[in-house]
Amino acid sequence: MMSAFRTAPVLLCALLLAVPAVMPADAGGDGASRADVPAGCYLSEKANFTLIHLEGDPATIGRNHGVLLAEKIQRGIAAYAHCSSDWYGLTWAQCRKNAVFYWPNVPAEYQQEIEGIAEGAASQGVLNPDGATVDWIDILAYNAVWDIWWRLSLPGNKFWWFPFRDDGTERPHHCSGFVATGKGWTRDGGFVLAQSLWMPYFLPPAQAVWCDIVPSQGNRIFMQLTAGMVWSGTEYYVNSAGLVAAETTLGVGAHVWGGTPAFVRIRRAIQYASTIDEFRDQMLQDTNGAYCSDYLLGDAKTNEVAVLELGGRTWALARTSDGYLPSCNYPWDTKVADEMGEPQGAAHGCWPRWTRIQDLCEQNKGNITVEFGKMLLGDHYDSASAGINRSGRSLCGHGENTTSGYPHGSQDAKVTNQSMAARMQVWARFGHSCGEPYIVEEHAAAHSNQITPDLQDMIAGPWATFGALNPLQVSVVDQNGVKVGSARVVARDEYDGTLTVINVTDGKALVDYFPAGRYTFTARSGNAVAKVQVAVSGPSSVDLVITEGGQPSPVLAMQGAVLVAAVALVAAVAVLVWRRRGRKARAGP
Ligand SMILES: [Zn+2]
Repeated sequence: MMSAFRTAPVLLCALLLAVPAVMPADAGGDGASRADVPAGCYLSEKANFTLIHLEGDPATIGRNHGVLLAEKIQRGIAAYAHCSSDWYGLTWAQCRKNAVFYWPNVPAEYQQEIEGIAEGAASQGVLNPDGATVDWIDILAYNAVWDIWWRLSLPGNKFWWFPFRDDGTERPHHCSGFVATGKGWTRDGGFVLAQSLWMPYFLPPAQAVWCDIVPSQGNRIFMQLTAGMVWSGTEYYVNSAGLVAAETTLGVGAHVWGGTPAFVRIRRAIQYASTIDEFRDQMLQDTNGAYCSDYLLGDAKTNEVAVLELGGRTWALARTSDGYLPSCNYPWDTKVADEMGEPQGAAHGCWPRWTRIQDLCEQNKGNITVEFGKMLLGDHYDSASAGINRSGRSLCGHGENTTSGYPHGSQDAKVTNQSMAARMQVWARFGHSCGEPYIVEEHAAAHSNQITPDLQDMIAGPWATFGALNPLQVSVVDQNGVKVGSARVVARDEYDGTLTVINVTDGKALVDYFPAGRYTFTARSGNAVAKVQVAVSGPSSVDLVITEGGQPSPVLAMQGAVLVAAVALVAAVAVLVWRRRGRKARAGP
């Protein structure tokens, strides 16, 4: 029995009032007809995110990626060109010149994927920031842009990526996250991992993509994707070995000439590593020192969690099977902090978030869940001022309220746990974690100097689940084993309540791409009903045996529970009143 059926009547009423979205299986994305989607691919929209599936050899994966996400690729490249110009004074032509030096250090499979993305995007008319048709050098420069920025920075350049420094203004921060595991810390003992991406608000919705890649070699990858990249760009991944990786960025360490760029190392790690140790080895092997970061890691096979802290030449690994690890752009390892020339303790700008994550985890010891992760990412408390402060210092980054320059802060949130990670599934929300919208017009009224033409409103979506896509076979027979001529099957996502309709004819339906998750499948044919709960974590089949007057649907079951609870309450009150009257009558005047 699912927990939803045991929930209090009040919550049941709320659930009955909520009308979940109904989508047909295999629905096409916004504006994209099924005919536009290449064979072997899938494209749909849910809760302000695009969901795509790619498979095959590297060139095919790249080309289909370029075709499916063309519009978002153009926006993403333009956003990163904007950052390069503001932060480094680099023109896009200079980014392209810098990028070609990395090409020899890109393995053939990723070279072919990059060329494929360029070819696919060009076929859809995508232009680079200079107005030329996009080519492989544009896609390379875009993928390697963090490597380029790191190479042009010097160690000790504190909070290097922003133009305003040491002038007393608050500097933008980059990403919040934590991972916790073990019976002492999480409610079910399995790990919980959460992370939110912070970037300028002219990037969305280029980063609002969930991408399921089945490469011809290595692990399957389910990642949040910045359209046009061969790595995530938003730094949230789970692979088919049950390894989750999410990142918060650090400052600048030593650069290593001729090393493998960061974008290649992270893609390589998620594609070929199955354990925390293998991930560490992939990230350190032939490093160019770029993109110093904390990688939050969770292994669904062992339930061990870790944070790999990468400086340029220094690194550290914290790991636990019963504890929690925070991450928020704060270098916790002394060697790494020294290499980057960043202070530790309260002198560091990210200290308020660092202490807040720890306070919240300590307060919820033994009770950490996915819901706790959502709450933490939407938290507005500022430890520095000891009060609510919707700023860049709170975990729910509202940098638009307090930082100089263009609006910058959290623009999505992701949370998973051990069982979801094992089937390549995640909870995610587009926009600020707390759900507050960012409206350009309102922002312009107070900060007209921060508005650029590429800004657009960032309207938070609901929390929703996303998962890798698998073939699903549904069969419906009657109690004698005879195929049912036609039946309507509704799959209800046990986490976010989304309903998917599958029409069965001649006893069977095949759905090519069905998201991983936990579902209740309910089949109806005339008055006959069947219901079964299934966790979809790979190619799956659902067998439903319908019976006349069979089990009621989940909604009817909930309505029944509410009715029973209401009748019980009325009866209890009636008995109480009757007894009191009886006592009064016996006591007399
Ligand atoms: Zn918020």
